[in-house]
Amino acid sequence: MTAKLIKGTEIRDEILGEIKQEVENIKTKYGVVPGLVTILVGENPASISYVTAKIKAAQSLGFKEIQDNQPEDITEQQLLALIDRYNKDDSIHGILVQLPLPKGIDEKKVLNAIDPDKDVDGFHPVNVGRLMIGGAEVKFPPCTPAGIQELIVRSGFETKGAEVVVVGRSNIVGKPIAIMMLQKAANANATVTVVHTATKDLAYHCKRAEILIVAAGVPGLVKPEWIKPGACVIDVGVNRVGEKISEKTGRKVAILKGDVDFDAAKEIAGAITPVPGGVGPMTITMLMRNTLNSLKFKLGIAGT
Ligand code: NAD
Repeated sequence: MTAKLIKGTEIRDEILGEIKQEVENIKTKYGVVPGLVTILVGENPASISYVTAKIKAAQSLGFKEIQDNQPEDITEQQLLALIDRYNKDDSIHGILVQLPLPKGIDEKKVLNAIDPDKDVDGFHPVNVGRLMIGGAEVKFPPCTPAGIQELIVRSGFETKGAEVVVVGRSNIVGKPIAIMMLQKAANANATVTVVHTATKDLAYHCKRAEILIVAAGVPGLVKPEWIKPGACVIDVGVNRVGEKISEKTGRKVAILKGDVDFDAAKEIAGAITPVPGGVGPMTITMLMRNTLNSLKFKLGIAGT
C-alpha cells in the first residue's frame, strides 16, 4: 500500500477530546453544559441503534442528554407540540428527530418545526441558506460534510486552490460538501466540480481531482485508473454487499464496501479513507460539535 490511510476513528477521538475539554471549560466558567434531545418515534431497530450511538456520544462528553421515546401512534400535532416545548427549553441546544417517521406524519413539516438555532443536523432550510452564504452566517454545517472537511484538513491536504471533484449531488452529502469547499474561507477555497448521473465522462473529471470526494452509493464505482497519483480520496459510500460471521461476536454482520475500488486505489492515491472506519465515525462527532457550538452561539462565545 502506498497511500496513507486516513483513519476516521483516530481523527474522531482527537476531535471528541477537544469537545470534552471545551465542555469542561464552559461548565467551569459559565455553569452550563450543552443539552441535546433525541426524539425517537416507534421501535425501528435501525433507528434505535442510531439514536443509542448519539446518546452514548453525548453522555461521554458530559452533555445534558434527554432521550424522548414516543409511541408509533403519536399524532403529527402531538409531535409538533413536543418540538415546540423543546424549542422553548433553555437547557436544550440541539434537537434531533430520528427519521424515518411513521406513515401519516409529514417529515418535512416536523423537521421544519425545529428552531433553526437548535437544528444541529443543519437540514432546516434556514441553515441550508446560511451554509450557502458562508462565513459567520454558518451555524450548523451538516455533519457528514463537516466530517469530510475535517478528514481532509487534518490529514494535511491543502484545500486552497485545490481541484476538488465531488461525485454525487445529494442534499445531505454531495451538494453541501461542494458548497463548503468552494467558500472563500479557511479549510476551503477550492476549485470545485460536481459530477453526477448525467455527467458525460466521469473518469475525465475524477482524474483531474487533487481531492476526490465520492458519495454515490454505488460499490466500486470509482476505478483505480480514474485516480490522479497522490490524490486525497474520501470514500463516503457505505454499501452492503453481503453478510459474514463476525470473528469477534460470532454473529452475522454486513459486509460493507465503499464507492471506490479500495484495494487498487490505495496503490495510486496519496491518502484514502477505508470503508468502514473512514467517514462513518465522523458524522456523530460533528453532531456533538454542532451541539456544543449551539451553546457557544447562545453564550456569545462562538468562534473562540
Ligand atoms: P443519494 O442516493 O441521495 O445520492 C447519490 C448521488 O450520487 C446522486 O446525486 C446521484 O446523482 C449520484 N450517483 C449515483 N450513481 C451515480 C453514478 N453511477 N455516476 C455518477 N453519479 C452517481 O446518496 P447519499 O445520501 O448522498 O449517500 C451516498 C453514499 O454515502 C451512500 O452509500 C450512503 O450510504 C453513504 N453515506 C455515508 C454516510 C456516513 O458515512 N456517515 C453519511 C451519508 C451517506
